[in-house]
Amino acid sequence: MDNLSLLCLGGCREVGRSAFLLEAGEKKILLDYGISLNDVPSFPLHISPSEIDAVLLSHPHLDHSGSLPLLFSSRVKPPVYTTPLSKAMLEYLMEDMMKISGRYLPYEEYEVREMLDKTVAVDYKDVFRIGDVEIKPLNAGHVPGSCMFLIKLGRLKALYTGDINTVDTRLIYSAEIQEILAESPIDLLVVEATYGSRLHDDRRATEKSFVSSVLDVLENNGLVLVPAFAYGRAQEMLCVLEAYKSGFPLYMDGMARRISPTLLSFKHYLKDPATYESALQNTLFVRGSKERRKLLKGSGIVISPAGMLKGGPALFYARSIAKRSNSAIFLVSYQIPGTPGDNLLTLGRIDGEAEKVACSVKWFDFSSHVGKDELVRFVSAVAEASGNSTKVVIVHGDEASSASLETNLRDMGFNALLPRNGDLIKL
Ligand SMILES: [Zn+2]
Ligand SMILES: [Zn+2]
Repeated sequence: MDNLSLLCLGGCREVGRSAFLLEAGEKKILLDYGISLNDVPSFPLHISPSEIDAVLLSHPHLDHSGSLPLLFSSRVKPPVYTTPLSKAMLEYLMEDMMKISGRYLPYEEYEVREMLDKTVAVDYKDVFRIGDVEIKPLNAGHVPGSCMFLIKLGRLKALYTGDINTVDTRLIYSAEIQEILAESPIDLLVVEATYGSRLHDDRRATEKSFVSSVLDVLENNGLVLVPAFAYGRAQEMLCVLEAYKSGFPLYMDGMARRISPTLLSFKHYLKDPATYESALQNTLFVRGSKERRKLLKGSGIVISPAGMLKGGPALFYARSIAKRSNSAIFLVSYQIPGTPGDNLLTLGRIDGEAEKVACSVKWFDFSSHVGKDELVRFVSAVAEASGNSTKVVIVHGDEASSASLETNLRDMGFNALLPRNGDLIKL
């Protein structure tokens, strides 16, 4: 008999280590298998690779992929399905993770290589099957190549959103909501809630205020550091700056330097490949410490990871720029409390430095996650198109954001659930 159930292995009431086991009839399908890389890494609940028929990877951010190598140390190795671009990015992000945190992790290069070898590239809307289960990847609008998975077994349908954004950015198109509505009724909706309790600023207004703040600094012969995640946000900032054509030198450093040109081999994931290409042509890629020191003597904009100043060239630049009153550090991603980026915003200090910074520090809301209002609209649309029969499982949000979304949805009469890690949800 057809049945669906969801075992929550990680990522409930938290952001990090996302992992869910979907049992669809005879098949067991793992949805993401992430890691939380805090001071001590934490992993999802254990699952044996012999219990899994396949893994669906929504996108390669480590909170969705970082524990995958754990599944590749034994003889049984499940296939991992993700988009071709996500597969390429997975390789970069794994390499970076092993370099930075490898000594704390219970696997080695061998498991990472085996995992990459078993990764199968499937594109948006290319339906594939695992036994009786039919799977359709759809654009999630979060980072280039990210996907949601629509999973069908007989008449039952589940949608796993992974991380989603329902508005267009400069870099990519928003999540394919119309496609989901056309597939309704959806019986089980597993939805992210990073911003379950927070509205986003208007995107265009944010862009304008960011660009005008950048220009203020440059007209004063200062330097602007834009710490940004190497994959997604760094390229989005390139596109924003290209759109407003500042005319000032634009530098890119760190892992973003490798990832940005790679995206050109996957143009169909980009909203405007021609503009992206011209943005890249106007970008100076920094190679090595000599070029870094030279750059610090002039004026311009530097985009570099890490987005929360946890390391990478961004931290090197930040230490120098912090001492200059004519320069600025503009943070453009969510800053997890306690990270160096958050400490800079709240305490006005670079970690490890006694002095407060002399440069200007601002934060801009360039999020790639759906905001509160759009999230409620998205879930309501799916549930209503499904005759209010949808079981909505809220994941990937801290306790406050997830609970706020749950209350909101319940007040509207929807069947919303807020599970804990370890919970089993049956249809
Ligand atoms: Zn993500
Ligand atoms: Zn995530």
